[in-house]
Amino acid sequence: MTTALITHAECLGHETPADHPEQVARLERVLQALEPLELRRVTAPLAAEDDVLRLHPAAYLQELRDRRPEAGIVQLDADTWMSPGSLAAAFRAVGGALRAVDLVLAGEVGNAFCATRPPGHHAEAETPMGFCLFGTAALAAQYALEHHRLSRVAVVDFDVHHGNGTQELLSGERRALVITSQQLPLWPGTGQAHETGGYDNVLNLPLPPGSGSAEMRTAWGAAFDRLRAFRPELIVISAGFDAHRDDPLAQLEWEVQDYAWLTAELCKLADTLCGGRIVSTLEGGYDLNALAVSAKAHVEELMKAAT
Ligand SMILES: [Zn+2]
Repeated sequence: MTTALITHAECLGHETPADHPEQVARLERVLQALEPLELRRVTAPLAAEDDVLRLHPAAYLQELRDRRPEAGIVQLDADTWMSPGSLAAAFRAVGGALRAVDLVLAGEVGNAFCATRPPGHHAEAETPMGFCLFGTAALAAQYALEHHRLSRVAVVDFDVHHGNGTQELLSGERRALVITSQQLPLWPGTGQAHETGGYDNVLNLPLPPGSGSAEMRTAWGAAFDRLRAFRPELIVISAGFDAHRDDPLAQLEWEVQDYAWLTAELCKLADTLCGGRIVSTLEGGYDLNALAVSAKAHVEELMKAAT
């Protein structure tokens, strides 16, 4: 068994203003770091419109299409921008995650990492937000439930920002469990421990600014019990690397070995619970060096588990 690396050149076509943290160079650096690894390289297809419409209304998709610029870059909210290539990139990100689900559930690969952008976990059903257009991880989970008829899918999000979009999109889905750690206080401000979803199916792990390895391992260690009790048939990871101590957008103190530890633990759980089935998709990470080495450490642990 191998680990799949799923990406597409069109994900580099989503352009943001100069100095915007979510920049084309992020994906270039991640791909460069993964270049020497023996991965099964897969081209991300465009998602079908119906696959996006599982969790976003048609009017939202039409609004994005209407606002797509012919040239230049338009601003959708304080942080989120769209260039002529952004929608294609977002459709590739969703399509890549769905392809990853297909490959992993078919047993063609052990697990998969989707190196795509824009990220997805802040996008709500009708609102682009925080650099995100579509809820990629939530759409992958919903696809696994509906298209592949799984009974239980877990989404695990270790990006430093709260996965508010994933929480909103899956809060009413009793077949999904969402576990997400985030720095609080920090934008977007949600993700308190008392937010538990419509079916007690959301577990929020707020972490204080300045906290590091010890705090994250304690919080996640306790969360693993919830994962075991839920018995997922697939684990989708929202892999953001902005909790790294060098990241400019947040104040957590995670190090590369923390990403390796968390990935290895999730792989062990997946082995026990669901035949190792993990689909991981790139979210944030804004220090280019920290992003590249952390993403590589994450993928190397996936590879160890897939052998
Ligand atoms: Zn983030």
